[in-house]
Amino acid sequence: MNYRIALIKGDGIGPEIVNETVKVIDKVGKKFGHTFEYVDVLMGGCATDAAGKSYPDGTAELCRSCDAVLLGAVGGPQWGSDKPAEQRPETALLAIRKDLKLYANLRPAALRPALISACPLKRETAEEGIDLLVVRELTGGIYFGKRDKYQTEDRGIEATDLMAYSEMEIERIGRRAFEMARLRRKKVSSVDKANVLETSRLWRSVMHRLAAEYSDVQYEDVLVDNCAMQLVRDPGQFDVVVTENMFGDILSDEASMITGSIGLLPSASMGNDAPALYEPIHGSAPDIAGQDKANPIATILSAAMMFRYSFNLPAEADAIEAAVDKALADGWRTADIAEPGEHTIGTMKMGEIIQENI
Ligand code: NAD
Repeated sequence: MNYRIALIKGDGIGPEIVNETVKVIDKVGKKFGHTFEYVDVLMGGCATDAAGKSYPDGTAELCRSCDAVLLGAVGGPQWGSDKPAEQRPETALLAIRKDLKLYANLRPAALRPALISACPLKRETAEEGIDLLVVRELTGGIYFGKRDKYQTEDRGIEATDLMAYSEMEIERIGRRAFEMARLRRKKVSSVDKANVLETSRLWRSVMHRLAAEYSDVQYEDVLVDNCAMQLVRDPGQFDVVVTENMFGDILSDEASMITGSIGLLPSASMGNDAPALYEPIHGSAPDIAGQDKANPIATILSAAMMFRYSFNLPAEADAIEAAVDKALADGWRTADIAEPGEHTIGTMKMGEIIQENI
C-alpha cells in the first residue's frame, strides 16, 4: 500500500524530530512492503516568517488530501503574545484542530520497561506496569462554553464559564473510547463528577447506554477526584480512561508525569471524516533547538500510533514500539532521560539506532 502523510515539521526541534521519524517510517515501509509519499505543510512560526501567517490559506485542504498528519511542534519566543493572532503559532494549532474537526484526543501513558527508575511512583507500583490511554473530549465543554464577566452590586466583579455537553458530543467520544478499548485490554473507565454536575449525569447516562451496546468491554464509572488519586496509587488498573475536556486536560498531564519524561509521550487527535493528527505531547523546545539534543522518541511513537489507528497496521506499530524499547533496554539515552553521569547520544543517533532495530 502507498500512504500519503502530511508532515508539519514546524519550529524549534520540530524539523529534527520529524526527520528522524521519517527515516523510521521508511524503514518500516521497506520491511513490511509499504511506500510513503510525504507532503510538506508549512505551519507555525516558520509559516509566519515565510508567508506572513502561521496558518497559510490551503493548509487544511493540503492535510485533507493525505491519509494522516504528523506534526513536530510549533511555537517559539520570537512569535510571542505581542504578535497579532494570525502570526502566532498557537492560532494555527487551534485552527487545524477545528478545520479537521478533531474532537478526540488520545494520549497513551505507557511506562517503558527500561525506564522504570524514571517513574516517580513507588518502585513496586511501577514494576506492575503502566499502560493506559486517556481519551479526552477536545472540542466541547467549559473551554468552549459561553463566558461572561460583569460587575455586581455587592460582590465586586463576577465571572462565569458555561460547561455544556450534548448527547451527540458525548456519544461520539464514548464510541471512540469503546472502539479503542477493543484494540487494547477491553476496559473503559469513564470519568465524571456525576455527584455534582448535570453535564456529568448526562455524560454517565450516555456512557451506560454505550456500555450495554459494547458488552464485550468491561466498564466502570469513576469520579474525577478518585481518578486523580487512583492514577498515582494504582495506575495499572486503568486501560482506557474517557473523559470530558477539562478533566482530560488535567488527568492526561498527571498520567504523563507518572511515566517519566516529556520526550517519550506521543498523542493523536481524531475526528470522523478527516485524517487524524499525530504529534508528541511536548512543545518546540526552543532552548535545545538545532543542537541535536532533542529526544525523537515521542514523535517516533506518534508514528507508531499512526500505523495502528490510521493505517490499521498493528504489526508495524508493534515493530516501532519494540524498536524503541530495545534502544532503551540497550542503554541508549538522550540527555532528557539520562541519569546523572550516564553516557548520552543525540537526536540523530537515537533515530539511527531505532531505525536499525526495526
Ligand atoms: P516544551 O515542551 O517545548 O519544553 C519544556 C521543556 O522540556 C524544555 O526544557 C525542553 O527542552 C524540554 N523538552 C521538550 N521536548 C523535548 C524533547 N523531545 N527532548 C528533550 N527535551 C525536551 O514546552 P515550553 O517550553 O513550554 O514551550 C516551548 C514552545 O513550544 C512554546 O512556544 C509553546 O507554545 C510551544 N508548544 C507547542 C506545542 C505543540 O506544537 N503542540 C505544545 C506545547 C508547547
